Amino acid sequence: MPTISTNFKDRTVEYDELLNDFKILLKKNRPPLKFTIQREVILETLYNSDEHLTPESLHHLIQEQHPDLKTGIATVYRTLALLEESNMVTSLSFGAQGKKYELGAKNHHDHLICTECGNITEFVDEQIEERQHDITDKLGFKMSDHSMQIYGICKKCQEK
Ligand SMILES: [Zn+2]
Ligand SMILES: [Zn+2]
Repeated sequence: MPTISTNFKDRTVEYDELLNDFKILLKKNRPPLKFTIQREVILETLYNSDEHLTPESLHHLIQEQHPDLKTGIATVYRTLALLEESNMVTSLSFGAQGKKYELGAKNHHDHLICTECGNITEFVDEQIEERQHDITDKLGFKMSDHSMQIYGICKKCQEK
C-alpha cells in the first residue's frame, strides 16, 4: 500500500503540498498512474469544497466548472478510491445511499449524519477529544486518528 508524507499532525496542508503528495501517490501505484489535469481537478475541487461530496456530486461540480475537460465518472470513482486508500480523503458511509467524501487534511472534526435527508453537521468537542486521549493513554494505545459519526434524524426532518 502506498504511503504518503502528508503532515496530518496539524490537519492543515497547503494545496501545493497536497498536490505533491498526490503526484507521489499516482507514481507509487502499481501500475503507476499518469498525472492528468482531470485527476488534478478532482483533488482541487475537493480542496475548494466545504461540503461532503458524493462521487456523483463531485463529478457534477467538475462538469460545471470544467466542461471542456470531459472528466468521466469512472475517473472520479477510481481517483477517490486511491485517495481514500492512502488516507488523503476520508469517507462517511450512508448505507445504501453510498459514501460522501472530504479531504483528510481539513481540520479535525466529528459528524452528525441525518439518515433521512443525508444532511451532515460537523462539530468539535474538546471534552470528547480529551477523553479519547485519556482512554488510549490508559490502554497504552497509540492513536493516529479517529472518526466519529453520530447517526440519527436532524431537527428539520423531525419537524416534518
Ligand atoms: Zn434530515
Ligand atoms: Zn466533515
